[in-house]
Amino acid sequence: MISSLGRGYCAFCARQQRIFAYSHGGALVNRCQQCGFPSNRVLPASVPDENTPLRILCIDDDRLFLEQAKDLLEEQGHTVFTAEDGEKGLAVAARSAPDLVLLDLIMPGLHGFEVCEAIKTAPELAGVPVVILTRMDNPQLNGRAFEAGAHLVVHKSAAGDDIRRLIRAVRVLMDGDPPFMPGPRAIMD
Ligand SMILES: [Zn+2]
Repeated sequence: MISSLGRGYCAFCARQQRIFAYSHGGALVNRCQQCGFPSNRVLPASVPDENTPLRILCIDDDRLFLEQAKDLLEEQGHTVFTAEDGEKGLAVAARSAPDLVLLDLIMPGLHGFEVCEAIKTAPELAGVPVVILTRMDNPQLNGRAFEAGAHLVVHKSAAGDDIRRLIRAVRVLMDGDPPFMPGPRAIMD
């Protein structure tokens, strides 16, 4: 079930947004309709493990974007794996043990939602946070991304501007008690 709760402050968007209640594993979580960040979480200016390197898998058919993201993330000390479509991405995920997956939606072959669901239903990958990076601005599509188990949905331009903040948001969600763990088909049931 999904239900609107009106507007509330989203710490990731840093403004008032429409807030929806999504059911995850039997618990209701209030999430920003735009980005999916839980409305009860704050996003501090820094977190203690800010500089801990991560293993990050980027799946995108846009090679230029892949190169840019890889450069940016490697500059920040992360280890980056890339794949140009969903099938390759799942294969790389299975052997690279990523801490985080950055995932495009529209790609040849598997759609981003299918890739996200496949990650969330693979026992060894289910705990890996997935952030959808998209150029579309469609809250209904975002709802489907949350349904597929995505932690966040972020516009690509915003991710490019401040990927460090994006990763901090993921750390906040993963380090929470309990960690934020959306599952596939968690809404619209
Ligand atoms: Zn938001």
